[in-house]
Amino acid sequence: MSVKQQVDHLIVNGEIFTGERASPHLNNGAIAVNGNRIVAIGDARSLQERYQSESVTDVGGAIVHPGMIDTHVHAISLGLHSLPVSIDKASASKFSYADVKVQTDDESTDALTAAAAVALLRRGYTCFMEAGTVFETDAFAAALQRIGMRGMVSAPFGWDDVSIFESLAPATITKRLMERAPANRAAVIRRLERELTRNADKDALVTGYVCLYGECSATDALTRDASDLARQAGVLFNQHQGFVRQWQEFEHAKYGISGVQRLHRLGALTERTTLSHMNVMSDADAELVVKNRPGITWCPNNALHRAVHPQDHCRLPWLIDRGVCVSLGIDTTMYHPLGTAGMASLLLSASVGHRLDDAEPFYMQTANAARNIGYADELGTLAVGKRADIVVRAVEDITHTALEQAGALLALSSSQIPVDLVMIDGRVVMKDGRLTATDQTELLRSALRQRRRILERAGASAE
Ligand SMILES: [Zn+2]
Repeated sequence: MSVKQQVDHLIVNGEIFTGERASPHLNNGAIAVNGNRIVAIGDARSLQERYQSESVTDVGGAIVHPGMIDTHVHAISLGLHSLPVSIDKASASKFSYADVKVQTDDESTDALTAAAAVALLRRGYTCFMEAGTVFETDAFAAALQRIGMRGMVSAPFGWDDVSIFESLAPATITKRLMERAPANRAAVIRRLERELTRNADKDALVTGYVCLYGECSATDALTRDASDLARQAGVLFNQHQGFVRQWQEFEHAKYGISGVQRLHRLGALTERTTLSHMNVMSDADAELVVKNRPGITWCPNNALHRAVHPQDHCRLPWLIDRGVCVSLGIDTTMYHPLGTAGMASLLLSASVGHRLDDAEPFYMQTANAARNIGYADELGTLAVGKRADIVVRAVEDITHTALEQAGALLALSSSQIPVDLVMIDGRVVMKDGRLTATDQTELLRSALRQRRRILERAGASAE
């Protein structure tokens, strides 16, 4: 009689969506986890013949999938969900986003990051890339580590030339923001280097990457230095690019070439680069992207919200066909409910005449997303050797089930199927939709208190 191998966790009887396009689905499947890695995945019966564990979770046919990854979210904006802000005109709304986002301190960033983590976990995300706008990065990292969630963080507002915003969006660069985030190349590089020290620990849940704010707000020198730093450190280089036409035109007028062409000229348009948005690009830009293979984080909600298309042709579905790795981001969440980028990408793709496959948003938020944050070998799919970041959904009404696989993936990535269990790096961090390591109710109360503090201060400083 063969001896069964002892493992830390066995998840059995799941409808498993692996995130691997070659073998996407396992009916009645199981996953064996030891330490922080997946050691086996396959048919439940055969896996249980080979493995045993003190911790066996029978998920009773529920959907199981790799933890989803949002590759562009401004973390503090999650805590400000539904706040009536304007990024363009301070006078158009009660609060200017620029006034609000500079009011954070360690205490508020800790509380709002923890609250953001819960909101993401409850929608099946186990990792997210903070889009370079958190000032108190240590408080951010500490909050995620306490909960057990992954995140990526970088220098806040990496820029050294804000003339584009002075010209086109003056309300976004208040005096207070420029005090906290000076347009200074040396200071940005120092801060980037500091954030990268997090990566010395290979098992760190929160890692650093190189982020510039982008959209023509970095000189050639800063862009080159930051991209070199990313290459030396073996991490991702990321910036906003191609959000709206006016910003593209500004960059073209200033440098005589498009932003994408400028990145290419500076050696910053490589496979290690991920650009966020890319709503607006020329044919020549699109060809450069196909040739140089940077990843793209698509934020379809924001493209729809700002009515970028059809005035400017949306090229993302065509670029996907040509092998460009596109992932999804929710960006800011004042207007865009978390978890809706998948559905928005499908609707937007249809409206521009190139409907994506129903399953595509799922891959854009798993395997593609892992590649676009620089962790293709570690995250994004359920496969032997990968980190054990696993989500088990609940079935609470009939819309949480599906009759066929593509439909299930569509439902999964584009609606709000409740999350039951979340494992990250082999640890169960959420069970029955509640955090295992922290009092979720107290955490929410604390975040609401901190949000009030921030808004009070923003109101005071605006007067
Ligand atoms: Zn953004």
